[in-house]
Amino acid sequence: LSAVLDRGERWCLVGAGPGGLCAARWLREIGVPFDGFERQPDVGGIWDIDFPGSPMYESCHFISSRTLSGFRDHPMPASYPDYPRHDLVLRYLRDYADRFGLREAFRFGTAVLSARAEGDAWLVDTGGDSPRRYAGIVTAVGNEWRASLPGLAGHFDGATLHSSGYRSPEQLRGRRVLVVGAGNSGCDIAVDAAGVAAFAAISMRRGYHFVPKHILGRPADVFADSGPPLPGWLERPIFERLLRLLNGDLRRLGLPAPDHRIFETHPILNTAILDRLAHGDLAVRPDIARLDGPFVEFTDAAREAYDTLVLATGYTRGVPFLQPEVLADDDVSRLALNIFHREHAGLVVLGHFTTDGGAFPILDLQCELAARTIAAQRRDARRAASLRRALAGPDPDFSRGVRFKPVRRMANYVASRPYKRHLSRVLRDLRQ
Ligand SMILES: Cc1cc2nc3c(=O)[nH]c(=O)nc-3n(C[C@H](O)[C@H](O)[C@H](O)COP(=O)(O)OP(=O)(O)OC[C@H]3O[C@@H](n4cnc5c(N)ncnc54)[C@H](O)[C@@H]3O)c2cc1C
Repeated sequence: LSAVLDRGERWCLVGAGPGGLCAARWLREIGVPFDGFERQPDVGGIWDIDFPGSPMYESCHFISSRTLSGFRDHPMPASYPDYPRHDLVLRYLRDYADRFGLREAFRFGTAVLSARAEGDAWLVDTGGDSPRRYAGIVTAVGNEWRASLPGLAGHFDGATLHSSGYRSPEQLRGRRVLVVGAGNSGCDIAVDAAGVAAFAAISMRRGYHFVPKHILGRPADVFADSGPPLPGWLERPIFERLLRLLNGDLRRLGLPAPDHRIFETHPILNTAILDRLAHGDLAVRPDIARLDGPFVEFTDAAREAYDTLVLATGYTRGVPFLQPEVLADDDVSRLALNIFHREHAGLVVLGHFTTDGGAFPILDLQCELAARTIAAQRRDARRAASLRRALAGPDPDFSRGVRFKPVRRMANYVASRPYKRHLSRVLRDLRQ
C-alpha cells in the first residue's frame, strides 16, 4: 500500500472549467491554500470543443446573453455578439485565467479518481502517485460529461449517437435523421439537421415554450431583467401572453401544446427551429414506442425509416468520484444551498444546479461564498458553527412559486433571481 501524502491544511479543488477557475480565484483571494486538479490539458471545461467528451458542437452559442453571463468583475467584452459562440466563451474563460494567473493553481492531465472521508479530512486518489490527505475538497466537475441514454425498446440498424458525440452537421449530411429530445441541444441539432439532412425530424415527449432570443430587439434575459421585479405568479401569465403574441399558436407547425406552464421546465431559447418547421425543412414526431431494424415506431403508431438517431437526452449529474451514499447522482438533497454537504463540512460542491439564466454569475457567488465559508471554518470556530447551524435547516424556496415539473432534468433546478438574491444576502453577512 502506498504511503499517504499529507497535505495538511490544504484543500483539494477538482475541475478547471468556469466553476473551478472562479473557485481558484476566490480561494486564493480569501487565503485558503489548495491544490487544483484538472483531467484535461487546459482550462475551459465544456467550452473547449476539442476536449475529449466535451458536449460542445460547432453551432453551439450561448443561450444566455453576454450582458448577463459574465463573472461579476470580469464582464464579457462589449465587442462580443449578444449570444457568443462556444469558441468566444472559451476565449473569455482563458482571458479570465490569464488575468488572475489561475493556470498555475492546477495540475493538468490529472483526474481525481476517488475521494473518501477520513474523519474530517479527505483522502484523494489521482491514480499514479500516493493518495493525498486534504483538509477538504471543493468539486467543480460539471454536469454535462456523462450521457444519459433512454431505454428504447427494440433494435435499430442505423447509426445512433448521443448529442455529446455530435460535433458538426457533416455527421448528418444526406442522411435521414431523427433527433430525440427537444432540450436546447436537441433543438440546435435539429436546426443543423434541417439544413443538411435528406430528411430531418425531431421526436418530443411533450410540447415546450419556445422563447425567442430577442424580444423587442433586446436579448430575452436583458428584456426580462429590465422591467420592475414581479412576483412569479404575476410574471408568468404576462410572459405566456407575450410568447403567444410573438409565436402564435405553435400547433400550426405540428408542435404539441405544452403540458405545463412556462418555467415549469427549462425554457427553450430557440426560434430558429420554428423557422425550420415553418419552411418544411423539419418535421415533428411524438415519443418513440420502439425501434425495429431500419424503422422507428412512434407512439401514434406511425412507422418511418431513418438511418441516424441523435439522442439529445441529457446528462447524469453528480460527482462520480464520491460514493453514492455521500452524494447520489441527480440528487441535491444532501446539499445545503446546492453547495455545502450537510454532514461533511469538508465537502463543497460547485455548479450542481440548472437555472433559467447565465450560470457564471451564479458560480461566482457560489465560489466566493464557498471560499469565505472555508476561511471561517479554518479561522473562526464560533462563526463557522453559527454558519453551519444557519445552513442546517431546509433551504429557502428557490422556485419563485413555480411548481417545477417532476422530471429528472429539473432535479437540481433553481430560479436564478431568488437563488442569487439569497446567496448575496448570506455573503453580505459573511463579509462583515
Ligand atoms: C450545450 C450547452 C450549452 C450551454 N449553454 C450555456 C449558456 O448559454 N449559458 C450558461 O451560463 N451556461 C450554459 N451551459 C451550462 C454550462 O454547464 C456552464 O456554462 C459551465 O460550463 C459550467 O461550468 P462548470 O465549471 O461547473 O463545469 P464544466 O464546464 O463541465 O467544467 C468541469 C471541469 O471539471 C473537469 N473534471 C471533471 N471531472 C474531473 C475529475 N474527476 N478530475 C479532474 N477534473 C475533472 C472537467 O474536465 C472540466 O474541465 C451550457 C451547457 C451545455 C452542455
